[in-house]
Amino acid sequence: MEIKPGKVYLVGAGPGDVELLTLKAVRALGESDVALIDDLVNREVLQFLRPGARVIEVGKRGGCKSTPQAFIERQMVKLAQEGHIVARIKGGDPFVFGRGGEEVETLLAAGITVEVVSGITAGIGAPAAMGIPVTHRDCSHGVTLVTGHARKGAEAGDGPDWKALARTGTTLVIYMGMKYLADITRELQGGGLAATTPVAVIQNGTLANEQRLISTLASVPGDAAACGIGSPAIVVVGDVVRYGRTSVITIPLLKSA
Ligand code: SAH
Repeated sequence: MEIKPGKVYLVGAGPGDVELLTLKAVRALGESDVALIDDLVNREVLQFLRPGARVIEVGKRGGCKSTPQAFIERQMVKLAQEGHIVARIKGGDPFVFGRGGEEVETLLAAGITVEVVSGITAGIGAPAAMGIPVTHRDCSHGVTLVTGHARKGAEAGDGPDWKALARTGTTLVIYMGMKYLADITRELQGGGLAATTPVAVIQNGTLANEQRLISTLASVPGDAAACGIGSPAIVVVGDVVRYGRTSVITIPLLKSA
């Protein structure tokens, strides 16, 4: 008997809060009988899977025990070839620092049908939840999403050119930026950003254990260490941070500035 062809949904689960899933994500999960889920994703999303669906954990967080990317891709291909409807669930948006592009390429090369379901990326959703608009007509005409994971250093060309980014005049939204926060903030000041430029750090944004910090470019490495805020976090650099609230009852910095 011929096997009915399977399919892979590449599902963005949003930054954390399960209510930030899209309706399309909920529908895709409801059709899926196997889920491959990344470790940053809120497990509450699994309630939307087809009843009895199999769940495979495929954590890839930096520094922790992880499932190699090639293995995950092989597994998706195999499951789809066996006729399964597979949900590959990723945090935020699958195409923003999520290796979604690579996975789509592999799946298409294997002749598998793939549908991408975008999600709310952490770099926009987490600041928004604390009142920070990543662009604002009055103070930021653009936003740059950038990874802080690769350090510009020993090997020339490695990692982002922070000095050049400092001169873009856009809000900088840095993913995976905590490890090299001191280097990054130093480079940005070297590129011309004022030591007093507002910076927000949001750890576990939109989740119950969320932590928020508002500081400045010069002080943020020390402040983050002092309050124990760490990965996974989004770092927002720019004047838009003035709109941010560390809690709903705090007077925004904007008013006191
Ligand atoms: N595809 C994801 C990003 C994956 S890279 C997206 O679009 O959001 C992983 C990084 O995303 C983390 O190191 C952290 O910088 C950020 N991140 C993901 N979820 C987060 C959250 N709830 N709060 C803060 N940062 C988060």
